[in-house]
Amino acid sequence: MRVPFLDLKIQNLEERRAILDSIEQVLNHGQIVLGPEIQQFEETIANYCGRKFAVSVGSGTDALYLALRAYDIGFGNEVITTSLSWIATANAIALTGAKPVFADINEDLNIDSNSVKKLINKNTKAILAVDYTGKVCCMNELTSIAKENNLILIEDGSQAFGATYFNKRCGSFGDISAISHNPMKVYAALGEAGSILCDDKKVYNRLISLRYNGTINKEICVEPSLNGRMDTIQAAILLHRLKRLDDLIKKRRTNAKLYDVELKGMVGLPIEKDYEKDVYYTYIIRCSHRDELKKFLEDKGIETKIQHSLLMSEQPAYKNRYKSDTIKAQKLVKEILCIPIHEKLKDEQIQYVIESIQEFYK
Ligand SMILES: *Cc1c(COP(=O)(O)O)cnc(C)c1O
Repeated sequence: MRVPFLDLKIQNLEERRAILDSIEQVLNHGQIVLGPEIQQFEETIANYCGRKFAVSVGSGTDALYLALRAYDIGFGNEVITTSLSWIATANAIALTGAKPVFADINEDLNIDSNSVKKLINKNTKAILAVDYTGKVCCMNELTSIAKENNLILIEDGSQAFGATYFNKRCGSFGDISAISHNPMKVYAALGEAGSILCDDKKVYNRLISLRYNGTINKEICVEPSLNGRMDTIQAAILLHRLKRLDDLIKKRRTNAKLYDVELKGMVGLPIEKDYEKDVYYTYIIRCSHRDELKKFLEDKGIETKIQHSLLMSEQPAYKNRYKSDTIKAQKLVKEILCIPIHEKLKDEQIQYVIESIQEFYK
């Protein structure tokens, strides 16, 4: 049996037809950039997340970078973020000219609020908190810390769109949220795409300018920026895909429950508190003999991934250059392994993954 880590083919005929119909509508009206689907998409997801405004952009990296820029974060500022995330999180900070400062993580692989507190100093301007693995991080604690210290709180919800925390949705936390819709994410486009969510009209207007070379009325440039607009086709696809998002999350959660029951006691399992509802972007087990297990599963046709084998603070671009507090993260990162969890998995495949892991530890 083969168990792919992800399967991005669209073979379901109904789904394929719906996507082709969305694309055809764009071909019919011809507004390839900033067409009507863009505004419709922005209104729809702002509403879904309980925010006043959404701004669609070209990628999750653009979303993070532009969100930081919209709050004037740059040279001289420090931004505290987690040590375990996709490198785009740190890159977005560094690209503004600000310094990323890497906080430690907890057993749930998300940022440790106590570590954040320790890293705050007079240069700290913001906290960039990642909802890692598809779980909203400790936003109650971070919201208080940000308030007490007069810091901007930015949510990187790229992995957790659709997740909730005390019944509030990912995308609604902090001053501003950045989301990736790249094809690997749970709420995915068919190409690069991202969005930014906020409640402040001034920030919203700034973002509209920042996503198009810092221009006003598309002609007058008031500050340097990049071209980071989302394609109309991606907005059309995302509008369609929001309709099936809840079912897709349900399937991932069902898969996770199967693993939870059968792998208990054998490996460290994802932690989900009763006030959290995770979307399982990844299902990360913590295990002894991780590299041997990975090889064993690979030989059985089961594809796994280590996300990520290097902490952001340990990447050549960042190592030894910035302050960090990563003692727990350094240990955890050696134990983590992502096993297949996607919504297209069949029950036999999940069963096969479970039996193979059981066989390894026997
Ligand atoms: C995927 C991801 C990003 C970057 O998004 P892109 O759309 O690939 O640019 C940023 N942060 C996190 C946590 C991600 O998982």
